[in-house]
Amino acid sequence: MINLKNVSKTFGKQHALDNISLQFPKNKTSVIVGPSGSGKSTLLRSLNLLETPESGEYEFNDEKIDFSKKLSSKTILNIRRKTSMVFQSFNLFPHLTVLKNVMEGQVQVLNKSKEEAKDVAEKLLDKVGMLDKADSYPSQLSGGQAQRVAIARSLAMHPEYILLDEPTSALDPEIELEVLKVLLDLAKEKQSLVIVTHNLTFAQRVADKIVFIEDGKVGFDGDTKDFFESDDQRIKDFLAAMT
Ligand code: ADP
Ligand code: MG
Repeated sequence: MINLKNVSKTFGKQHALDNISLQFPKNKTSVIVGPSGSGKSTLLRSLNLLETPESGEYEFNDEKIDFSKKLSSKTILNIRRKTSMVFQSFNLFPHLTVLKNVMEGQVQVLNKSKEEAKDVAEKLLDKVGMLDKADSYPSQLSGGQAQRVAIARSLAMHPEYILLDEPTSALDPEIELEVLKVLLDLAKEKQSLVIVTHNLTFAQRVADKIVFIEDGKVGFDGDTKDFFESDDQRIKDFLAAMT
């Protein structure tokens, strides 16, 4: 379980996260929505310690992090291993084949043998429907294919949580579906997911809980159905603007 308490992060005078308290339960899909510039990416990146908030607490299972103190490299490494980030722009290694992209972290970080890493990589590529492209390079893939490889690469690290920042925003609608289908499968398998998305149809379908972020604050934190049926005018305005 991830538990944030009173977490704040500023960029200059900009309060990107303003006293955020939230939980991201294990084996559930949490979806973060909100207007552009509201702090969604900063929130997600903080879970992976790609951003370091100035204050507040971050609990990951039994590990407690106090953001007002300097983080040790051991803590950072530990959290990075438990949370894997999937970006809008895929960030595959361009000089490695699809197969090698999914093997690399297993060999370098998890110290697996090449044979074992290859075995796992092939299984995961099969799972995301990309095994036939194992020997291709990232430049030869469509955006949807690249993102599915990026998801397989994340899964190969056996993180407790996969964090996805607008994983389909760079994709055409018909290609978006092939990535969303993979995410729906992972959600069904109870992989712990935290997803930032603008696709509210998808959010409604996949989310166990919705977090609505507005001006760096939590505007809603709760049940998916309650969010979409909310009487709160700000939520209604947001939903109307998005459809
Ligand atoms: P979202 O993902 O919801 O669009 P972000 O988390 O990217 O929002 O940004 C929240 C706010 O923090 C915005 O005002 C943005 O301009 C600011 N911000 C984010 N990252 C940085 C940064 N590295 N430097 C300065 N300002 C930033
Ligand atoms: Mg963002």
